[in-house]
Amino acid sequence: MKQIGHWINGGEVAGTGREQDVFNPATGEVSARVALASVSDLEQAVDAARAALPAWRATGLTKRAAVMFKLREIVTAKSDELARIITAEHGKVVSDAAGEVVRGLENVEYCAGLMHHLKGEFSEQVSSGVDVHSVRQPVGIVACITPFNFPAMVPLWMVTTAIACGNTVILKPSERDPSAALWIAQAFKDAGLPDGVLNVVNGDKEAVDGILDHDDIKAVSFVGSTPIAQYIYERASKNGKRVQALGGAKNHMVVMPDADLDAAADAAVSAAYGSAGERCMAVSVLVAVGEVADPLVDKIAERMGKLVIGDGFDERSEMGPLITREARDRVASYVAGATDEGARVVVDGREKHFDESGFFIGTSLVDHVKPGMKVYDEEIFGPVLSVVRVETFEDAVELINANQFANGVAIFTRDGKSAREFEFAIEVGMVGVNVPIPVPVGSFSFGGWKKSLFGDTHMYGAEAFNFYTRRKVVTTRWPDPTQSQVDLGFPTN
Ligand code: NAD
Repeated sequence: MKQIGHWINGGEVAGTGREQDVFNPATGEVSARVALASVSDLEQAVDAARAALPAWRATGLTKRAAVMFKLREIVTAKSDELARIITAEHGKVVSDAAGEVVRGLENVEYCAGLMHHLKGEFSEQVSSGVDVHSVRQPVGIVACITPFNFPAMVPLWMVTTAIACGNTVILKPSERDPSAALWIAQAFKDAGLPDGVLNVVNGDKEAVDGILDHDDIKAVSFVGSTPIAQYIYERASKNGKRVQALGGAKNHMVVMPDADLDAAADAAVSAAYGSAGERCMAVSVLVAVGEVADPLVDKIAERMGKLVIGDGFDERSEMGPLITREARDRVASYVAGATDEGARVVVDGREKHFDESGFFIGTSLVDHVKPGMKVYDEEIFGPVLSVVRVETFEDAVELINANQFANGVAIFTRDGKSAREFEFAIEVGMVGVNVPIPVPVGSFSFGGWKKSLFGDTHMYGAEAFNFYTRRKVVTTRWPDPTQSQVDLGFPTN
C-alpha cells in the first residue's frame, strides 16, 4: 500500500502515528494511506520554516522571481502528470483537473511579477529635508490550509504568493487528496526553491489546531466549508494571527426574460454539474425570472440526459464521482427530502449510477424550490441544481441578498441596464454577467462576502500581496549637525 507522508525541509518524511485511507473515488478502493500529523510532526515543519526564513527573506527579488518563472515552466511541461494525480484522488475528469492546473498557474505568472508587486512608496520633501518611504516585508511563517476540491489550484493560490513575498510556508492540504500538494512541493524544489521554504504537513484537525495555536505561525490562509472557516478565523485571530478564511457557497444564476434560453441552459448545466458540483463557484440555484422557468427547466433536463458520467480517466466522461461515499449519501439525502419539503424533483440523480462501486451519483434538478427548504438553505456541494421561480428582477435581487452565502453570482440577460443595476445592487463578492462561474483572473483577487469569507482579504492578486506582507514606513532626515537643538514640542511639518 502506498504511504503518503509529509514534505519537510526539502524532502519526504514518513508519518509517525495516525493515518487514514485515501480512496480512488471512481472505484471506491483504497489507493493509499496518508499520515495524519501529530503536534510534534508539525513542530518539525515549523523548525524547518523558521530556519529557512532569514535567508529566504533576504533573497534578492530577481532570484525569487526566477523560481516562479522556472516553476511555471516545470508545471506547464508536466501539467498532464499533475492533472492525473488530481483525478486519481479527487475523481474529477482529467480535462477538468488540467483546467484547475492552468488556473493555478495564472497565479504563478502573477507572482513572477513580484518585483513590481512588492514596490514600496516614496514621498520626497514631506517637510523641509524630510523624506518618507514605505517597504513591504514578509510576515514570517505562514500556514495554508486547503480543501479537497481544488487540490492543486488552491495551494497554488496561497503558497506562491506567500513565498513570493519572502515568507516561509507550511501547507496543510486536504487529507482526502494529499498527493498534489507533495507534487507541487517537489516542483518548487526543482525550480530552485531552497529547502525549508515550503513544507507540507498532512493531517486533520490535530494538525490544524496545532497551527492555530502555534506562536511562531503569524498568518493563516484557509479555504473550506463555512463552519470550519469561522472556527479557523476565530481561533487564529484570538491567538493574534492574521487570518483570511474563505467558506462555503450557494451561488445563484439569474435568468432574465430577455436572455437567450439555449445559451442560459448550456451555461447552467455546465456550471451546476461540472466537477460534480464540487466547486465553490458552482451554480447551485437557478433563479428564473417571469415566464422563463418552464422552457428553461425543459431545456436543462434535456441536456442533463446527454451527460456522460464515469471514471475521470475515461476520455468520454464529462463528470466523475463525488469525493467520498459519505458525500454521495449526503447529496442523495437532499434530493430524497426535497419532495417532502414541497419541491418537485424533475430529474432524480439517484436513479442513475448510484449503485456503481465508486462514489457516483447522477445529476439532479429540483424545481419550485423556496427559501426555508433544506435544499435551498444549505450548501449541498454536489450535482444538484435547484430552481427558484420569481416574478421580477427586484425579487431576484432580494432573494440573493437575503442568502447567508455570497461567494459568486451570475445574471444572464441581453439588457445592459439590468446587468448594470444587478452589479450595483447585488451583495456578493464575485459577479458574472453572462459568465456562470466568474472566477477572477490572477491579476484580480478572489473572495466572497458574508458567510463565504471571514476576515477582509481576498485570495491571490494584489490583496494577497497585502495579506502576506507587513508595511513599514520610514521617515528620513539628514540634518546639518550645526543646526541641532533640543525641542520638546511635538514634531509638526
Ligand atoms: P472542509 O472545511 O471539510 O476542510 C477544509 C480543510 O479544513 C481541510 O484541510 C481539512 O483537513 C480541515 N478541517 C476539516 N475539519 C476540520 C476541523 N474540524 N478542525 C480543523 N480543521 C478541519 O472543506 P472540504 O470539504 O475539504 O472542501 C469543500 C468546502 O470548501 C465547501 O464548503 C466549499 O464551498 C469550500 N470551498 C470554498 C472556496 C472558496 O473560495 N470560498 C473554494 C473551495 C472550496
